[in-house]
Amino acid sequence: MSWFRVDDKLMDHPKWVAVKGAALDRAKSRTDARHHAQQAALVWMAAGVWGAGSNCDGIIPEHAAASIAPRAFLTEDEFHDAAELLVKSGLWHRLPKSRGGPGWEFHDWHDYQLSKQQVQRRQDREAKRKALYRTVEGRIVVEQVKRRDGDRCRYCWEEVIWADRRSAKRGTIDHLDPDGPNSLDNCVVACGSCNRAKADRTPEDADMQLRPPYWGDARDLAASGRDQVATGSRPDLTRGSGRARSGPDGPGQAGTGLGGAGRSGAQPPGPDLETHDHEGAA
Ligand SMILES: [Zn+2]
Repeated sequence: MSWFRVDDKLMDHPKWVAVKGAALDRAKSRTDARHHAQQAALVWMAAGVWGAGSNCDGIIPEHAAASIAPRAFLTEDEFHDAAELLVKSGLWHRLPKSRGGPGWEFHDWHDYQLSKQQVQRRQDREAKRKALYRTVEGRIVVEQVKRRDGDRCRYCWEEVIWADRRSAKRGTIDHLDPDGPNSLDNCVVACGSCNRAKADRTPEDADMQLRPPYWGDARDLAASGRDQVATGSRPDLTRGSGRARSGPDGPGQAGTGLGGAGRSGAQPPGPDLETHDHEGAA
């Protein structure tokens, strides 16, 4: 899914206010002007939504009017009239032939909207996440990750709840490198809260510490790990804790006697378990 982003100052922006002025210049009455200004606002919004969905990079080709207008409850003529007002007010620019015209271009699209590459990247990540839960290969990786990490978040070591879809403790699978593959090396168990805080970033970029899997004598491990956190020293992020053996054989092989704690309640996660919709949200 893509989003058309509108900032909260829109309706005080001089270009937005200018739409009404441009409409007054052209209309026979104030009622008429208001009507045209409303249509221009609607076209701006509808074209923006269409543009975000079709990854248009801010460009609305003239032929797109045929598809956008009816869905905004307008005729094509009304769309063209509205586009005229948007150009006059500066919210849109006319697209020259040299750049794919005839058509229009949103003013400062890239200041607010994602670029074509960003949208593509986001869609690729989304497809990969879906594949994690909807393909046989993906499900095998999920099972391996859960077997290695158990029901503990690799960032805060809190126990996650797989059956929970909403709370901060919900179980999710996080990609260490958001652009990396669906692999055992690149995926870890994370609670909803940590996953959300990390968002589409690496642990380094998010300034979050990746801990070893929480297996073994939980209390000792937790105490030492928390000391390390408290003093700012970071354990080796690339390996398990030794006792916390990772790998396809599972943690039960480590002989800790506690490896399987809490795993009996694990359920296969649904496709919506990993959410990064809220960028940078803490
Ligand atoms: Zn966590």
